[in-house]
Amino acid sequence: MPEISVTAIPAFTDNYIWLISSGGNHCAVVDPGDAGPVKKALQQAGLQLDYILLTHHHMDHIGGTAELVSATGAKVFGPHDSRIPGQDRSYGEGETVDLPKLRLKFDVIEVPGHTSSHIAFYGHGSLFCGDTLFSVGCGRLFEGTPAQMLNSLDKIAALPPATRVYCGHEYTLSNCDFAREVEPDNKKLAARASAAEAARATGRSTLPSELGDELAVNPFLRSRHPAVVAAAKKHNPAAKPGESTLAEIRAWKDRW
Ligand SMILES: [Zn+2]
Repeated sequence: MPEISVTAIPAFTDNYIWLISSGGNHCAVVDPGDAGPVKKALQQAGLQLDYILLTHHHMDHIGGTAELVSATGAKVFGPHDSRIPGQDRSYGEGETVDLPKLRLKFDVIEVPGHTSSHIAFYGHGSLFCGDTLFSVGCGRLFEGTPAQMLNSLDKIAALPPATRVYCGHEYTLSNCDFAREVEPDNKKLAARASAAEAARATGRSTLPSELGDELAVNPFLRSRHPAVVAAAKKHNPAAKPGESTLAEIRAWKDRW
């Protein structure tokens, strides 16, 4: 099996466009919100763009797609959603996206919550999850319910703990600040915050994170953990493990 190589192309203020290659001169990108930085990265690395993978319809994730297609002829694969123009094929739960020029395949996982048609791509020990899961956070619930987001996060949590999580934004520092209000006594969270501070201080990305580490520090993956439920109860005494705790923590973060 080819070795997957993933690099971050920063875009806008805090987006990441992920560049995937596997040893040859072919590559794919995930969520190219802006074409400019991708073209530059392709030129610098001497890579041919063959595939564009899209997780959801927000412009900061798809906005550069048309320009990249006209420049490179790349094929576009994303979710079933008429709001995303120009897709060569759309995919749903349990289907596999085949990228033959990279000799890579990714399983599609439907993860509604941030948007109704959001998907994630999983394969080769890597998860590309757009704005569903962030390091130490999760996406806002623009089109989905807390129950849908909980179900989506549960699907992600069931992947192998060594899975590398490539999310759509560099939000880790502020997510750590919020998570420490939820769980002030979580020592692994304090360590994650220190590591993230050190990374950002030297201009490095805090991503990818490891799923096993997220399970220990991410309040949205921990909505059944007693400490997180107790924090939710301070805002809503009726909060119970799971959906209502996730709803309360998400609403708290929205106001925060
Ligand atoms: Zn989004």
